Amino acid sequence: MARIDLHLHTTCSDGSCTPAEVIARAQKANVTALAITDHDIVTGLPEAMEAGRNAGIDVIPGIEVSSRHGTSEVHILGYYLDWRDPTLLAHLDGYRQARHRRNPLIIEKLRALGIDITYEEVKTLAGTDAVGRPHIARVLMDKGYVGSSKEAFDRYLADGAAAHVPRELPSPAEAIQIIRAAHGIPVLAHPSWVDGKDGIYALCAQLKDAGLGGIEVHYSTHKPDQTAQYLDTAQRLGLLVTGGSDFHGVTKPDIEVGTGRGQLKVPEKLLEPLRAAAATGR
Ligand SMILES: [Zn+2]
Ligand SMILES: [Zn+2]
Repeated sequence: MARIDLHLHTTCSDGSCTPAEVIARAQKANVTALAITDHDIVTGLPEAMEAGRNAGIDVIPGIEVSSRHGTSEVHILGYYLDWRDPTLLAHLDGYRQARHRRNPLIIEKLRALGIDITYEEVKTLAGTDAVGRPHIARVLMDKGYVGSSKEAFDRYLADGAAAHVPRELPSPAEAIQIIRAAHGIPVLAHPSWVDGKDGIYALCAQLKDAGLGGIEVHYSTHKPDQTAQYLDTAQRLGLLVTGGSDFHGVTKPDIEVGTGRGQLKVPEKLLEPLRAAAATGR
């Protein structure tokens, strides 16, 4: 059955499939439209768009920007943005530089814990400028220190874990502003990640005032009651409804393009309102 997937990562950030490989998987899953939403980087878009044209899949330019709201990391997706916009590119470069300042500090902490790892190894494995913790996790896996990416985060990399280093992040309002300035539609990613179940409505209301355009209601790990709650929040606030798998390849091996953990189905009908909003700048 035809479906769409508006949240996908490639080797240009922390995914393990190239943009062309992601398109090939999407084709197999009957995905008719998709968005590549790499973290802080847009370099995968030309390859994805070309592969999409050849496969008859509509490829929407996207991005995922991390921000901090209290103790939560809040991720803002951006759709249909002018991905060549120089101001946008300068902001994204700044975010990647913040990662480059943080990563060596994490490596230092890991080495102090007796782990044999260098930042050079991590950069080589990453093969992209958007180097982040998932790449460190993969080196830890490859060297046998942990059995999975999740274990690497739980033991070493997550907030409160042994080698955690806080990252400089913009506020959600700033992330929204940057996407709007590049004529994109900002959407709150995976609302289930935000602390405090009851806080989502208030957060979305506040972010709507800052320019938020939608909520990622459909997501690989959302349970039916969560999907219903976020749908209700979107409808009450007049926000767009989107959805995606957050496919990463080997880093999240249980999540597939288009189908997530098997039960995901993002309806095709969600695309037109998003496209219309982008066209009218609303
Ligand atoms: Zn995210
Ligand atoms: Zn993501």
